[in-house]
Amino acid sequence: MPRIPKSTALTKRAPHAEALALQFGDAWAYAPAPETTPVTVKDRYDLFIGGKFVKPSSGKYFPSLNPASAKKLTEIARGSARDVDKAVVAARAAYAKTWSKIHPRERGKYLFRIARMIQERARELSILETMDGGKPIRESRDIDIPLVAAHFFYYAGWADKLDYAFPGKTPNPIGVAGQVIPWNFPLLMAAWKLAPALACGNTVVLKPAETTSVTAMHLAEIIREAGVPDGVVNIVTGPGDTGAALVNHPGIDKIAFTGSTEVGKHIAKTLAGTSKTLTLELGGKAANIIMEDAPLDQAVEGVINGIYFNQGHVCCAGSRLLVQESVYPKVLRKLTDRIETLRVGDPLDKNTDVGAINSKEQLGRIAELVDSGVAEGADLVQSNCRLPSKGYWFKPSFFTGVTASHRVAREEIFGPVLSVMTFRTPAEAIDRANNTCYGLSAGIWTDKGSKIFKMAGALRAGVIWANTFNKFDPTSPFGGYKESGFGREGGVQGLMPYLRV
Ligand code: NAD
Ligand code: MN
Repeated sequence: MPRIPKSTALTKRAPHAEALALQFGDAWAYAPAPETTPVTVKDRYDLFIGGKFVKPSSGKYFPSLNPASAKKLTEIARGSARDVDKAVVAARAAYAKTWSKIHPRERGKYLFRIARMIQERARELSILETMDGGKPIRESRDIDIPLVAAHFFYYAGWADKLDYAFPGKTPNPIGVAGQVIPWNFPLLMAAWKLAPALACGNTVVLKPAETTSVTAMHLAEIIREAGVPDGVVNIVTGPGDTGAALVNHPGIDKIAFTGSTEVGKHIAKTLAGTSKTLTLELGGKAANIIMEDAPLDQAVEGVINGIYFNQGHVCCAGSRLLVQESVYPKVLRKLTDRIETLRVGDPLDKNTDVGAINSKEQLGRIAELVDSGVAEGADLVQSNCRLPSKGYWFKPSFFTGVTASHRVAREEIFGPVLSVMTFRTPAEAIDRANNTCYGLSAGIWTDKGSKIFKMAGALRAGVIWANTFNKFDPTSPFGGYKESGFGREGGVQGLMPYLRV
């Protein structure tokens, strides 16, 4: 008789899933298939300023954990305002002396070289991304790192073709860009920021997120080996106040920020009335809409991908599910069965679907919001999976009985938690989907092309997926409406924030 762990007090387990587990137990379990390629993690990582790895002026380092074990992986330099200043000075000098002067084709060559070196070192970068951030190796290997290389390839191609992107105009670089990025797609966010900025002739000071700085420092090695002139890219690690020092530095011409809406609003206020330009990519509360004519198995698979992918640490996650009433019972049953088969655990295991929550703080935020959902009267359904005893984990979960006023329907949870609601007519679906302060993405599932076009036109979201979800491509612009931010990354549109036209 297989051992079925007791459900937690909050857990309501679907009877069908219970029966399945009793009948089959571990029969469906895969043998562990851990990624075993050896990688070198340094004992500590310094700052990357002016083409050199340098110690932080404070002499201080802070730990970066592996969230799957809660053990220290390495130490990261704590950059101070002084270090930020050095980096900005280096970036300014590189801008004036080399990067804005060399032929755009030369800039393209460096970017192509970086892209190829990322491909060569893809395995190493994927493993490091998984160890430092907790995401499954399958995702870092198949999604993050290939997209990182694709982004550099794509913008490398634009470097000498800016006149064609903006015909009849004279595109010029802005100068020195300060870029602050989050922990959910650490190297991919670095690529989204660096590639277009460099292609357009800007130099950069990048501030990675404090829990996930390791791959950025390996990218610094690649940038150095690629022979990129000193000071063109500078990377200063540290917590939020290091980011604030960068935002406030008078020598910066442009700030690009991806992260929480709260910090984004604060930055927007700080920069108001200065000459710095700003792009923000903030939170989301995307609706995935299942119409009654949708292929339901595909739709549920897309919903699963939309919210449990990368532990729900996705700004464009499909965190609200709107189901047409007539198919609600079927969808609910499929969803309940499917979360039961998601494999949660060792992120380095190639079979893992859902990895570790990025940090203790993030786990706390998720738990607090989930508790609020229960307290406000929504019904919580959780996978009955066993969670590892060490590290930070959260069971794939969803709420039913959610009303539009519940916090779990309004606030970004940024974890593997879905809020399910119903609707009767397409018009009601659109009203509900748009009833949010965010507007980053949305998904539509239907058999009818006409419905897709009609609904996509009415949804107030920057990215709309039809019969798919969470698909990315460097040629396609990404960005939000309302409190999800402004400015676009990716595509020709992604060049604009880094140019004066
Ligand atoms: P955050 O906004 O605090 O951190 C994002 C980045 O900004 C990090 O590099 C951080 O060091 C830096 N930062 C923090 N304070 C700063 C300041 N005052 N000035 C300049 N830079 C600053 O996000 P978080 O605390 O890590 O996560 C909180 C919530 O934000 C999450 O629960 C999630 O809802 C949301 N989030 C969204 C995204 C996204 O992609 N849109 C990414 C990460 C987090
Ligand atoms: Mn870490």
